Amino acid sequence: MDKSKYGVHERHCCVRHGCKYGDKDCPVINELTKQDNICEECSDEGIKTVDELVTKKDIETLRNILEHYQEMTGLNVKNLSHKIIKTLEGSYYY
Ligand SMILES: [Zn+2]
Ligand SMILES: [Zn+2]
Repeated sequence: MDKSKYGVHERHCCVRHGCKYGDKDCPVINELTKQDNICEECSDEGIKTVDELVTKKDIETLRNILEHYQEMTGLNVKNLSHKIIKTLEGSYYY
């Protein structure tokens, strides 16, 4: 995907709820760029910032979400999931 298109994904796509446009090569989901906005579904759940999105989710929930993504999109999200789980573990135990 052309980098000039990243911005629109950063603003509308969600690491939990997926690409708003259904793109399999969504740069947000593939972690090529950072999500910049909380999606509507997340804000309905009371999440207000992107940092919260990562830190509020327990590891198990996050794993389930990532597995779900993999099923939905067929993407290999293993690297992404390891990265996030590592981050979470860090924030929980240190
Ligand atoms: Zn997207
Ligand atoms: Zn969301």
